Amino acid sequence: MRLSRTSEAALIEMFRRQTHVKGSSVLLGIGDDAAILRPPKARQLLFTTDMLIEGRHFHLKDAAPFEIGRKAMAVNLSDIAAMGGRPTHAVAAVGLPSKLTVSFVKELYRGMEETARNFGAALVGGDTNQSDLLVLSIALLGEAIGPRGAVRRSGAKPGNAIFVTGRLGGSYASKKHLNFIPRLKEAEHLVKKYKPTAMMDLSDGLSADLAKLAAASRVGAVLAEDALPSAVKKNSTKAALSDGEDFELLFTLSAKDAARLTAEKHPKGLAPFSRIGTIVDRRLGLRLKTTGGYFKKLSSTGFDHFK
Ligand code: ADP
Ligand code: MG
Repeated sequence: MRLSRTSEAALIEMFRRQTHVKGSSVLLGIGDDAAILRPPKARQLLFTTDMLIEGRHFHLKDAAPFEIGRKAMAVNLSDIAAMGGRPTHAVAAVGLPSKLTVSFVKELYRGMEETARNFGAALVGGDTNQSDLLVLSIALLGEAIGPRGAVRRSGAKPGNAIFVTGRLGGSYASKKHLNFIPRLKEAEHLVKKYKPTAMMDLSDGLSADLAKLAAASRVGAVLAEDALPSAVKKNSTKAALSDGEDFELLFTLSAKDAARLTAEKHPKGLAPFSRIGTIVDRRLGLRLKTTGGYFKKLSSTGFDHFK
C-alpha cells in the first residue's frame, strides 16, 4: 500500500508500535508533544544531528530501506563515538515521498529504531512529513563517558602518535557505508583506559579529516604509508587516504599511552587499532612517508603524486 492511501496519524501509530524503549531515563516516548527524559548524571551532554537526503547520500535503487534507516542512525552514533561518548536518546524527522509503500517505511523505521537500541540509545520521537525526496534527519543526545569529559579535535600535540580503528577505503564499493559499525565500544575502551588527546570520525577520507584535526590542534602530521590499514588491494594507499565514509575513528595518544595501547592484548570484539603516524610541529605541514622512504606532501584529496 502506498503512503498516499494512508494518514500521518496511522504512520505515527505504526512507528509507536515498532518502538521499544527500555531503561529508566525515558519517562515518556512517542505520543505527546515532546518526549520527557530524566536528566542524566553526566557532567557533559553531547548533542548532534545529521541528515541523509535521497540522491545526495544514498539512492533508492542501491540500498534497502532498512539499510537507509540504519545508516541515518549510525552516522549520528559515529559522531557521539568520536567525542568519547555514549548515545542516549534520538529523535527522527522524516520527509517521505507519497509514492513509497507502507512496508518500505516500516523497514526504514526499523533500521533507525533497531540501530539506536542495539547501541544503547532510545528513539523517543520525531516528525513525519510528506516531501518530494526521502529525507531522514536525526538528532542524537549522548553523554561523555571519560573522567576528563568529551574528546575534542583540538588536543593533539607534537610527539603524539596517530591511530585509526579498522580498515580504510573502498567503503562505497563494499557497501560498508551502509553497514558500518559505529565505533562506540572502541571509543569507550579508549577513554576509559587511555587519554586520547584528540579524536574524530572519518567521513571525508583520512587525508581530508586529518587536515581538520591538525588545523584544530594547530599541528602538522606525518603518516607512514606502510602502516595504513587499507581495506582494498588495488591502489590501497590512495583508497585509504582519499575514499570517504569509512566511519572509523582517528585519534591521537601521548607516546607513553601509544606504547601501552600497542602492547596491550587486543580486547575481543573490538576493531583493530593501527598506529599510522606521528603528530609534528605545524610548520612541517602534512606529509606521507612512502614505503620507499620518500616524503610527499599530503593534500586533502590524497597525496600529490596521484593528482
Ligand atoms: P505535533 O504535531 O504535536 O508535533 P506529531 O503528530 O508530529 O505531534 O507527533 C506525535 C508524536 O509522534 C510525537 O510524540 C512525535 O515525537 C512522534 N513522531 C512523529 N513522527 C515521528 C517519527 N518519524 N519517528 C518517531 N516519532 C515520531
Ligand atoms: Mg510534529
